Amino acid sequence: MSSNPEDIMELHWLFDMLQHIDVGLVVLNDKYEIKLWNSFIENHSGVSSSIAKGQSLFDIFPTINSNWLQQKLDNVIALRTPIFISWEQRPHLFPFKSYRPITGMAEKMYQNVALRPITNADGTVKYVCMVVYDVTDVAVNKESLSNANRKLDYLSKTDPLTSLHNRGSLDKVLNNAFEVFKQSNGSHALVMADIDHFKQVNDRYGHPVGDQVLQAVAKVLSSGARKTDFVGRYGGEEFVIVLPNTDSAGALFFCETVRKKIAEIKIKAADAIVSVTISFGISEACSSDKDVHDWLSRSDDALYKAKEGGRNRSVVVSGI
Ligand code: GH3
Ligand code: MG
Ligand code: MG
Repeated sequence: MSSNPEDIMELHWLFDMLQHIDVGLVVLNDKYEIKLWNSFIENHSGVSSSIAKGQSLFDIFPTINSNWLQQKLDNVIALRTPIFISWEQRPHLFPFKSYRPITGMAEKMYQNVALRPITNADGTVKYVCMVVYDVTDVAVNKESLSNANRKLDYLSKTDPLTSLHNRGSLDKVLNNAFEVFKQSNGSHALVMADIDHFKQVNDRYGHPVGDQVLQAVAKVLSSGARKTDFVGRYGGEEFVIVLPNTDSAGALFFCETVRKKIAEIKIKAADAIVSVTISFGISEACSSDKDVHDWLSRSDDALYKAKEGGRNRSVVVSGI
């Protein structure tokens, strides 16, 4: 480059822009020593370029994984090729605080970092420029979007009153359980449960007390279940429980245990203590079931028998 005053002026402008650009710039030599950095890094690290100069990057930022970054910097110099580190790979390379007002959710600045070789006039490469982009807005937006999606997914599968699985996810689980049975047989039990005389609870004590009863019953049902069991609200005061790898004797034991616990529930109403009982209908999947509805309707028959037999009991109906 010639050294006429205009060129020098342009160089000065360029330097001024790089100094004040909203992107971090760090130049390192092949020993990872800082040659210079711009005001973005000065402002966020609190260390001026003149103090940083000559010091190892890893002395100033001891939290940076030195082995990992050194390998990358060595590759940039040896292969003379840039390397890009995205925030998704490593959210924060430099431990800078996030000051963005709209992204107050992030404590630290998310960064994309490009490592670029700097070629000397003689064609050799002994320096690397680290270009640090603040991508906190993008990262936080993306994370809050995926959090919202997770929440939506949960809500779409959950009954809002009891927090049990809702009818939609129950249908899926039931179909899956039936598929598993068709492929590998085994014993899988399906339980239908229905609170006894629940209409009277609502009529006598009001709907809000009825809701409290539903929540208390749901809690007992799920606390009695194993991790692999599935407890869902089928609708109203009816529940369905899928017990994989459980025969009807095991399912009967489960139902009798929770039936007794449910009978002990006490809900405070205005001038009374409310108790309820529950009836269970149990059946195992059997090879003559054409589809999941056959299995479901056998459990429903069993529940009907439990109601007819006087309620507050568990009845098993076996398939043929
Ligand atoms: P049975 O022993 O034969 O099952 O009698 P039941 O009274 O429990 O059965 P029925 O089907 O006559 O009544 C069910 C009641 O459940 C009627 C309905 O108002 C009530 N119910 C359904 N969903 C809810 C709910 O979300 N909250 C409340 N509080 N009540 C509900
Ligand atoms: Mg009912
Ligand atoms: Mg009922």
